[in-house]
Amino acid sequence: MLQVKDLTVSYGKTEVVHNISFHVEQGEIVTVLGANGAGKSTILNTIVALHKAKSGSISFQGKDITNDRPDQLVRKGIRIVPEGRQIFPQHTVMENILLGAHIVKDSKKTNIMIESIFERFPRLEERKEQLGGTLSGGEQQMLAIARALMTEPSFLILDEPSLGLAPIIVNEVFDLLKEINASGVTVLLVEQMANSALKISDRAYVIETGRIVLEGTGEEIRMNPDVAKAYLGNV
Ligand code: ATP
Repeated sequence: MLQVKDLTVSYGKTEVVHNISFHVEQGEIVTVLGANGAGKSTILNTIVALHKAKSGSISFQGKDITNDRPDQLVRKGIRIVPEGRQIFPQHTVMENILLGAHIVKDSKKTNIMIESIFERFPRLEERKEQLGGTLSGGEQQMLAIARALMTEPSFLILDEPSLGLAPIIVNEVFDLLKEINASGVTVLLVEQMANSALKISDRAYVIETGRIVLEGTGEEIRMNPDVAKAYLGNV
């Protein structure tokens, strides 16, 4: 479904992603694992056109998307939940969710989507008039995911969804991702502490300083002693 080929990305003269190739098949959950500064966010932001590739190509459903704009990618079904969630703290939960659907012009469709979002996230419905900034960390992550789902993506990308969350909440977020995946959405996520992520992943890649150093099934990577020592902690 997504094919990243020989991707190189730099900031100015500093190359931070070196000739990376990986793929995500339809229906999969794939995790990219790596330490602070390994280049994970850079890879994701390049896929969603928030950053430009220096060389290499990205294709989605067999078509080249390397030079697409972010809004074109959203229309094609690719959506990112950014690192740090980036919800609007001074806006209500409902307003935040509606902002996720700004490209949907059909209000009837928007209403149907909101209904289905609230079915999946009853806690957000209870809090729909509450300001986003007053939600707990876990609720804010749910809100960021709900907002992304408003355009019915077929490919959901998440940048460290567990960041700053207590282990029990992390598990809730990953259970939710599993459910979303089971409903037909392909998932690519990056994580730093990744036990929970690997448990739900079909496959995983480990990157170090902008290069893929290991790949395997979620279980193989989770059971790898070097990986366990470096990345797994206890969540
Ligand atoms: P983290 O887990 O800490 O978010 P990461 O794996 O997502 O890390 P990136 O944020 O992709 O890593 O950063 C990769 C490298 O690129 C780092 O060395 C970082 O300092 C550098 N970098 C990131 N953004 C910029 C920028 N806008 N300008 C210059 N260098 C940058």
